[in-house]
Amino acid sequence: MNELGAVTEDLVGVRVLVVEDDPSIAEQLARGLGRAGCHVTAARTGAEAERHVTDADLILLDLGLPDIDGVALCTQMRARSDAPIIVVTAREAEPDRVSALDAGADDYVSKPFGFAELLARMRAVLRRTGRAEGNVVRHGRLAVDLGARKVEVAGDPVTLTAKEFDILACLLADPTRVVSREEIFDRAWDEHWYGPTKVLDVHMAALRRKLGDSSLIETVYGRGFRLSAS
Ligand code: CA
Repeated sequence: MNELGAVTEDLVGVRVLVVEDDPSIAEQLARGLGRAGCHVTAARTGAEAERHVTDADLILLDLGLPDIDGVALCTQMRARSDAPIIVVTAREAEPDRVSALDAGADDYVSKPFGFAELLARMRAVLRRTGRAEGNVVRHGRLAVDLGARKVEVAGDPVTLTAKEFDILACLLADPTRVVSREEIFDRAWDEHWYGPTKVLDVHMAALRRKLGDSSLIETVYGRGFRLSAS
């Protein structure tokens, strides 16, 4: 598995505005984000960024720009767009980072950053701000809109409860892997679940029934569950 990992599908189609005046960093970002399926628009100045801000689903903002203070730009962009803004700063620039968060940025990464970390932060802000809507993850006959929390099986909509959806999303995050019962509890239940684990079986049975095909989710005896390949 490469550095991008197997869970980048939810960034496919996301329109990212990269505001960065350093050409080598901008190019590296554009290449990596392109591989993750994002549509990248590059802006080297605040003025260019202002032109594209309303077309972006997510903004990566370098604070050190030639024509405008990055924090001021952050405020201006926030006034025109509610797209999540991730600030990209030098590690030592903590006051700027704090000001940027105050100015409406959603998160920050410090240079130099790992690409996997950046993608993870992008996914997280998109989830938090509900902008992941429209990013449909497909697996076999399943199509799951993680933002809108809608599920289709072979094109037919299926209505799930919140818990059933969370369990399905948990399996879908890495569809080739067996996910243990403990992991599903950790991720689909808010806190660690100290009650009877039978509750998972009840939700799982309902989920399988609603998906209309119990073979869509395999039970791997003694290990957990996995989405079937079909
Ligand atoms: Ca810069």
